[in-house]
Amino acid sequence: MAAPTMDAVVALCKRRGLIFPASEIYGGIANTYDYGHYGVLLKNNVIAQWWKAMIQERDDIVALDSAIIQHPRTWEASGHLAGFTDPLVDCKVCKQRFRADHIPELPCPRKPSVHPGEGPECDLTEAREFNLMFQTTIGPVQEAGATAYLRPETAQGIFLDFKQTLQYARKKPPFGIAQVGKSFRNEITPGNFIFRTLEFEQMEMEFFVPPDQAAQWYDYWRRARLDWYVSLGIDRERLRLRDHEPDELSHYSSATADVEYLYPIGWSELEGVANRGDFDLTQHAQFSGDKLEYFDPETRERYIPHVIEPAAGVGRTMLALLCDAYDEDEIGGEKRTVLRLHPAMAPVKVAVLPLLRKDGHPERAREIYEELRRHVSAEYDEGGHIGKRYRRQDEIGTPLAVTVDHQTLEDGTVTLRDRDTLAQDRVSADGLVQRVLELTR
Ligand code: ATP
Repeated sequence: MAAPTMDAVVALCKRRGLIFPASEIYGGIANTYDYGHYGVLLKNNVIAQWWKAMIQERDDIVALDSAIIQHPRTWEASGHLAGFTDPLVDCKVCKQRFRADHIPELPCPRKPSVHPGEGPECDLTEAREFNLMFQTTIGPVQEAGATAYLRPETAQGIFLDFKQTLQYARKKPPFGIAQVGKSFRNEITPGNFIFRTLEFEQMEMEFFVPPDQAAQWYDYWRRARLDWYVSLGIDRERLRLRDHEPDELSHYSSATADVEYLYPIGWSELEGVANRGDFDLTQHAQFSGDKLEYFDPETRERYIPHVIEPAAGVGRTMLALLCDAYDEDEIGGEKRTVLRLHPAMAPVKVAVLPLLRKDGHPERAREIYEELRRHVSAEYDEGGHIGKRYRRQDEIGTPLAVTVDHQTLEDGTVTLRDRDTLAQDRVSADGLVQRVLELTR
């Protein structure tokens, strides 16, 4: 089908409890969401696939989990304290706040046919730089405590631990350090569901390379990261790499490419791949007084590695998966919503459903379910009409459903229903585990 609207995806996520607004009983809080049961399972699958690609399938990357609150000097050295800002403009009349560089695309809240500042009553302030980092205080008394910051990216923790990792991991450049964790940004622009949130999980990897290999590895990671999204089942036609123009580059970067997805809001960044040069290690060496370099015992050369960084977002990956998988069709004249997720990404791989709530169906179905759940994420459901139960599984993207009926008790077979083809094969309950494992890999 044609791409879904964001509203359709948001409604499905709320209806099935994948993702919903946080603090809803208090009226919600802007750009902040909670993940319910199936959302958590989907999120775990995204993160597991990332670790698999970064760690399990390679031997040149190690894992890290650094602290969210680091020494405040970190953010001076990284440039975030001075430069991680958005230019903001306030309207004194409607009390709304806008990003100065977004005004040409935004409607005036009072007169949507014009842009902010163009309405008869608009009264905009000058643009002021607004830092996106959340501040907090370490210590029991606010006045006496030290100001600290919630990290706006996970990357800096990796640079701080570069030397430590080099010492224990027995790696030499080219090698990488990968981590997944929450980051925080005081985003004031509209979030577009989970595309832009105040807190979000990042999957970042810093790949340290000899300076003369930086261009080659940058190219390698741009392509590898695009391919990773294809491996999750996302339509290649809705993915692209976009190289940044020189005037878009961050202060630390000599080249950046975004992996973009065609979201309902248009082509937007899923992940950034940047050639950060030696900026970060040089800065932290200068601010800390520690040497952050690599000494190659073979060539007796000492150098500061350059860094290639693929920085992805868990939420944006989930949103791309959900938009890409969302589909509507008709079964027997009835409308059906279905998430055609790649089986490896599906929160639940197989549902086990007794046809009736009597005649021994539930007992046999539970036995089958208990066997399956030892191997895959499975769900047992005996509540309601069978068609409704299929529909519920379709909406959370479950690729397979096993139904137990009277014939099961006679000849030991069950029906195996395919979410996409709707084919219902009669198969033996023996060997079901193997079959489900094969079909949901
Ligand atoms: P944007 O330009 O959209 O604000 P960015 O270029 O600032 O994003 P990076 O600093 O490159 O983003 O962060 C790397 C990744 O982290 C992004 O590609 C995105 O997937 C994710 N990310 C960044 N900010 C947010 C946010 N506020 N909410 C959700 N994910 C985010």
